[in-house]
Amino acid sequence: MIVEMEKNVTAEQIQKITKKIQAIGFDFQINEGKERIVIAVLGIDVKRSLDPQQFRALDGVEDVIPISKPYKLASRDFKSEDTVIKVGGVEIGGKGVILMAGPCSVEGERQIFRCAEAVKKAGGKILRGGAFKPRTSPYSFRGLKEEGLQFLRRAADQFDLLVVTEVMSVGSIKLVAEYADILQIGARNMQNYDLLEAVNSCKKPVLLKRGPSAEIEEWFCAADYILNGSNGSNVILCERGMKTFERATRYTLDISAVPVAKRLSHLPIIVDPSHAAGNFHYVPALAKAAVAAGADGIIMEIHPEPERAFSDGAQSLTFSDFARLSKELKVIASAIGRGM
Ligand code: PEP
Ligand code: MN
Repeated sequence: MIVEMEKNVTAEQIQKITKKIQAIGFDFQINEGKERIVIAVLGIDVKRSLDPQQFRALDGVEDVIPISKPYKLASRDFKSEDTVIKVGGVEIGGKGVILMAGPCSVEGERQIFRCAEAVKKAGGKILRGGAFKPRTSPYSFRGLKEEGLQFLRRAADQFDLLVVTEVMSVGSIKLVAEYADILQIGARNMQNYDLLEAVNSCKKPVLLKRGPSAEIEEWFCAADYILNGSNGSNVILCERGMKTFERATRYTLDISAVPVAKRLSHLPIIVDPSHAAGNFHYVPALAKAAVAAGADGIIMEIHPEPERAFSDGAQSLTFSDFARLSKELKVIASAIGRGM
């Protein structure tokens, strides 16, 4: 349920309402928008046990709107303006399209430094790279763990980039947050609810990949798990392809997810064409389509020698292909009135 406040609402009136919400055993979050302040009433079975009438009559209340959707905080009903996430001087969800790139896995110091240099040269702002790798087979390379995080951080600092990297377990959140600017929840963990709730403790933005078989609504519910935490961690949505019957690509990039997310949610949405395609041949076209569709950023895999990569080499771009693509993306971004 959303309690919409009148434009000239006072702090006391708001306090009266939040006290009432707590008194009846519910939680709340306040969004101070440019136009108006809204309070989301959060709790179990809000619909069944909360009567909107008891709020409607209170001073300062403009309207009370039940939200029928199972997600609330990620929705435009709660926050009508786009969320712009500011991290280390970079704005995600603002006017500019943000380029994030790096290898699938951090394999060593030299490899990640070379990638960081390529990202910087291409105008990228954020370096990606996995130190904790979720692999389908337990016998595949599973990352350099803390040493990988150290290499990643040093490479990013050297080239004035931010770091995004995956966190796979509740137990490693603290460690990953020591090195990363943005924590990534991988597609396989989109419905790991303990992890979603716990990641909020890092107080850093979270890049939330869409599960390969998750509906958009389920993805937004996962975002609410993170947003509902008390530390105010913010969420960047990431479409990375879904399971379909098609086998020509590894997954099918759901380009529709971009305009749908833009309409139904205020959160920034970025696209990962690499994991969707699974094949470097298709990455440029998908990346360009994503920017044209309105994505706030692209995250992709690059490698100094893709054929020697420890993971996902087939979908990784060489530095020269990456440099060429980044120029094309800039043209598309400017054609739709956005910079890159
Ligand atoms: C990754 O980005 O390294 C990754 C494993 O992606 P996904 O979770 O989308 O498969
Ligand atoms: Mn990968």
